[in-house]
Order: sequence, then C-alpha cells, then structure tokens
Amino acid sequence: MTAVSINTTWHQKAEKLKPEGGLFIDGTLLPARSGKLFESINPANGATIAEVAQGDAADIDRAVASGLKAFKSGVWSRKAPRERMAVMLRFADLIEAHREEFALIDTMDMGKPISEMLNVDIPLAVLCFRFTAECIDKVQGSVGATSPDILSYVLRQPLGVVGCIVPWNYPLLMTSWKIAPALSAGNSVVLKPAEQSPLSAVLLARLFVEAGGPEGVLNVVNGFGPEAGKALALHRDVEKIAFTGSVEVGKLMMVYSGQSNLKKVSTECGGKSPHVIMADAADLEAAASWAAMGIFGNQGEVCCAGSRILVERKILKDFTDIFREKAELGYRPGDPLNPDTSMGPLVDFGQQKRVLNYIGIGKQAGAECVLGGGIPAGLEKGAFVSPTIFTGVNNQMAIAREEIFGPVASIIAFDGFEEAVSIANDTSFGLAAGIWTSDLGKAHRFARDVEAGMVYINSYMTGDMQLPFGGWKESGNGRDKCMDALTSYTQTKGVWATIG
Ligand code: NAD
Repeated sequence: MTAVSINTTWHQKAEKLKPEGGLFIDGTLLPARSGKLFESINPANGATIAEVAQGDAADIDRAVASGLKAFKSGVWSRKAPRERMAVMLRFADLIEAHREEFALIDTMDMGKPISEMLNVDIPLAVLCFRFTAECIDKVQGSVGATSPDILSYVLRQPLGVVGCIVPWNYPLLMTSWKIAPALSAGNSVVLKPAEQSPLSAVLLARLFVEAGGPEGVLNVVNGFGPEAGKALALHRDVEKIAFTGSVEVGKLMMVYSGQSNLKKVSTECGGKSPHVIMADAADLEAAASWAAMGIFGNQGEVCCAGSRILVERKILKDFTDIFREKAELGYRPGDPLNPDTSMGPLVDFGQQKRVLNYIGIGKQAGAECVLGGGIPAGLEKGAFVSPTIFTGVNNQMAIAREEIFGPVASIIAFDGFEEAVSIANDTSFGLAAGIWTSDLGKAHRFARDVEAGMVYINSYMTGDMQLPFGGWKESGNGRDKCMDALTSYTQTKGVWATIG
C-alpha cells in the first residue's frame, strides 16, 4: 500500500513538471537559431516529455563567443579562489535543494529508477561539486630552485573555454564530473548534453547563475552529436574538450582536435570490465550480490559495468546459482517512478534493439541464456530488457568482447589465478576490474597486474572523490574526480625573472 501511494505521489509530481528544453547562452534561455526542435521521450512509456531546441554550429558559435567574452573579462577566470569557491558551494547547495526536480527529470528522460537518482546520482553529484570547490585554493604553482639573481616560478592558470560533451547514462552526474572541475578552475564552459537526456542541463545552468555564477560562464547547447558536438570539438576558440561517451566518438574527438587548434582532449570511454570470483572468496553471497549490482545496476548502462564475470571453475555452479537468484530477486524491471523499482527501461528503443540484438548474437554463438533474454512480460510499451545471464561464454565471443551497455552478464569459467588475469587483460578496454578473494597477496597481485584504471577488491564500483575515475587502453585517457581532474583544466606557465 505504502509503495503504491508514494508511487502515485511521484507521478503527480511528474505531471506538474515542466522541464525547459532550450539552449542556455549568456544567462538566457534561447531557441536554436534554425528554430529546429527534437523530442525528448520517456523510455518507460514512449511519451514525449518536452520539445528541445536542436542546436547546431551557429548556436555553438554563439555559446563559445559568450564563454570567451566572459573568460576574457576576468569576471570568473580572475575571481579570487575563495570567492569562486563560495559560488561553487552555493551551487552545490542549490542542486541539493532541487533534488526532487533533478530526480524526476533524469528518471523520465533516461529511465533510471527514481530511488537511484535520489540515493546515488544526486548525492554523488553534490559531493563532486563540494569536493572540487574545496580544492580550489589548494591548487598551487611552484617556485624554481634557480640562482639568487633569478626568480622563476610556475603559474597555474585556467585554459579558456572548455567544451564538455557528455553521455546519457548518468545525465546529472557525468555532467557534474566535467563542469565542476572545469568551472572551479576558472574556465568558461559550453556543455553539450546527450540528445537522449537533454533536460537536466538547463536547470543546472540556471542554478549556477542563481548561485552567483556570472552569465556566459556556463552555457548549454542541446542538439545532436554530429551537428552540435562536432562543431564544439572543431571550434578554434575552445581550448579543451572533456568527453565522456563511446570509444568510437572518443577517437573522433582526437581527430577534431588535430583538424582544428590542437586543443587538449580528455576521453572517458567504454569498458568490458572483468569481475573475478576466486574459489577462495570468503563470502560467495556477497560476491554474487555485488556482481549483480555491477552488471544490472542502472540497467547495465554503466561504463565500468562488470559485464564479464570470471568465475573459478571449482565454484562455477554454486556461484551461478546464487548470482542468478540475486539477479532475479533484486532486479525486477518496472515503473521507474515507483521508489521500490530497482530496474527501469533502457534509455530508448534504439538501445533496447541493440541490446536484444547482442542477446541474439550470444545465443547464436552457443552461449547458454540461463536468465532473461528478452522483453519482460507486461512492459512492452517501454524500452525494457530483462536482466540476462549467459553461461558457457568464452572470451572470444562478441558478447565478451564488445560493450553491450545493457543488463547482460557473461559468465566465463577459468582455472587458477594466472588464467583469470590473462582473460581479464584480453580486451581492448581497460576501465575497471574487480576481484573477490580472501588471499591478500592474490588481491594485490591482481591490482598490480590487471590493465585497468580502477580496481575493486571484495566490492565493486565503490570509490570516493579522492580516487581518480578513468581508464587505460581504449577506455580513454582522462581522469574524472580527484585533485588531478581539477588541475587537468589548468595550464602551466613558466616565468623567468632576472632580478639581480
Ligand atoms: P556517444 O559516444 O554516442 O555520445 C556521447 C556524446 O557525444 C553525446 O553527447 C553525443 O551527442 C556526442 N557525440 C556523438 N557523436 C558525436 C560526434 N560525431 N561529434 C561530437 N559529439 C558527438 O555515447 P553514449 O551512447 O551517449 O554513451 C554511452 C557510452 O558512454 C558508453 O560507451 C559508455 O561506456 C560511455 N561512458 C563512459 C564513462 C567513463 O567515465 N569512462 C562514463 C559514462 C559513459
């Protein structure tokens, strides 16, 4: 009864919500120059949530010009660090105060359960703003050890206009990981949200201005990748592109940089992360729970999803039975506006088709589908896919090599630690990796030997703002979160003064 009434409340709130789908340039909500619009669709039921301005190169030009003007004026770029910090902290408070609005917008826009927005995305986004703001006056230059007649020092200065291009899987959070350090470092930002989840960005930009952020410092241009995103990445007045998304588009960012002004490019791309369960794991129940969260949480639309579950053959049957039960009981697709729902629809019908296609490929390759494998009964109107488990997978199959970005787990058996590491590293990706073992030596040998930017021992997808988030190999070259992320939005200047 309680769940139903809470659910009704969220639906009522959703009905009253009127998200703004414009462009936000120079502190003003604007239509696209072309006047074009596209629809933002709720993947839970196919309904249109809002019409969104479809920005293109002309709008990018306006937004970059606005960012550059603000940057050159020094109104933000030369603000005293502690004053900038105060604005960023107020910004964090305002995001927290608007948590219900953000939760509703992103849930309706991309389908994730509202409880996940309230308990994960929003607190982590707020934490990101607070942590990064607190770092602002800890970024220092240095003084060189030169002769007494010389004073040499290194200044750290903001870059200029930074283009942030983000994906749809955590609309608010992925945006926060980019704009919090970019703004904190004193840059102007032009944000290009994903076209599948465009709606929370304008609210975010409005709150920045409300917090005291000068107009023109944070601009939003909604639109499609090959139009708005490409124009931003090719723009000669943009000094850095901070990109999160697919490997394919991440590679394009580097090409665009080379074709324009050799701007800095940071890429956070996809993964096919190994989650290793050794036979000596102390708690198989816990390992299975975390493994299920690692691939079915957020519908499996997670860059560091543990999509390859490597299980030591001695415990293969026991683990698979528990894992299947955890998936079945813990991840039941349903209405994402119901706070009891643990799994929503995928972001859109195109993504649903893509994931179902991979499930077909897995079956054809001879892997055994022991759970799910299709659209859950009764939910045909939305872009839902059941949690799906394949056993009998070998690491050469397409479902083990390519990023599916959906709720599809591939269980791969191995014999012994060395084989686990070798399979774990046999991939073009290198984002995350996990291991369950009670042998400390094995755990840290794994951390040393695995080719990944993030390693979890006896847990999965855990972390904090202090640790870097990013990948090796084709998972990208950037690092979000942590102090390094903030300094990556600055550049150094060596100053040599003859004083003798
Ligand atoms: P995507 O690469 O299709 O799109 C990402 C962004 O790039 C969007 O804003 C899109 O409009 C834009 N874009 C697309 N084509 C472009 C072009 N030619 N020029 C400029 N911009 C263009 O990725 P997606 O489908 O939105 O997101 C899913 C991907 O993101 C997955 O591969 C996932 O692993 C990855 N991801 C990585 C991380 C990480 O931190 N490593 C985090 C979240 C998601």
